[in-house]
Amino acid sequence: MVGAQLIDGKRIAAEIRQEVKAEVAELRERNVVPGLTVVLVGEDPASQTYVRSKQRACEEVGIRSEVRKLPDHTSQTQLMKLIDELNQDPAVHGILVQLPLPGHIDADAVLRTIDPAKDVDGFHPTNVGCLWTGLSYQGFVPCTPAGVMELLRRTGIDPRGLDAVVVGRSNIVGKPMAALLLEANATVTICHSRTQNLRDQCRRADILVVAVGKPRFISGDWIKPGAVVIDVGINRVDGRLCGDVDESAWEVAGFLTPVPGGVGPMTIAQLLKNTVLAAKRTL
Ligand code: NDP
Repeated sequence: MVGAQLIDGKRIAAEIRQEVKAEVAELRERNVVPGLTVVLVGEDPASQTYVRSKQRACEEVGIRSEVRKLPDHTSQTQLMKLIDELNQDPAVHGILVQLPLPGHIDADAVLRTIDPAKDVDGFHPTNVGCLWTGLSYQGFVPCTPAGVMELLRRTGIDPRGLDAVVVGRSNIVGKPMAALLLEANATVTICHSRTQNLRDQCRRADILVVAVGKPRFISGDWIKPGAVVIDVGINRVDGRLCGDVDESAWEVAGFLTPVPGGVGPMTIAQLLKNTVLAAKRTL
């Protein structure tokens, strides 16, 4: 028996894209055309696919998008010089450096060169600082965790007072996710590869967010009956996409995001929102 209610990220993301489209039209009437530049270094096929979907999503809502492709052997200095030029360009409201970068480049150093006011990924330390000091409305929140919060909000789930467990502590997903749940007044636990009794930690969660990157890592018997389970993982197994949460979770959880069609579309919708926000702030 399938018990969990599906949280339809695809539908909710489509709703958000419509809202963004209307905002872009208003900005265009005021002669502001929101612009996003994506910097792609190297030939990683997954990155190329992500960048193409971001570009398509921008076009659909009227955001001007541009991809700057650089060869794999680009030096860190060359990359930083390009970012500096984009920082100065008034037509560029958002800058996104597609990760991962080739091994010879220090990704943290590169992300620090992006003007925080154009850092639509929300990875610059200034924006991370805003998030952890309750000033996220002044900066940019990373797209994936912001998308998860929007999924919760639009499904009518209020984290206040609930036990939230986040599995994964990356700067991209786990840590900002924990900050946002904390801001929403959940009691938050962050788990990682050294956590002991992970199963017990997960079973306590009213809201369980999983961002580990291991196919079907969390099974149904790790989940509290009726819990809200958000599966951030994107894994490719035998040519098909699957999440970090096993199918058996459908029988136990109260709400669950599918993969694909859950968090993934929300990440892109949030990127569009952040780009429009960056453009609005220039007015
Ligand atoms: P990282 O590899 O950066 O982080 C993975 C985290 O999982 C780490 O904190 C790691 O712990 C933890 N972990 C690994 N193994 C275990 C274990 N056995 N038990 C408990 N914790 C463990 O990945 P990301 O955060 O970047 O991404 C996570 C997943 O989300 C991936 O599948 C990725 O593809 C997907 N993703 C999806 C997005 C979307 O739009 N839907 C966007 C971004 C990512 P430790 O820190 O101790 O090593």
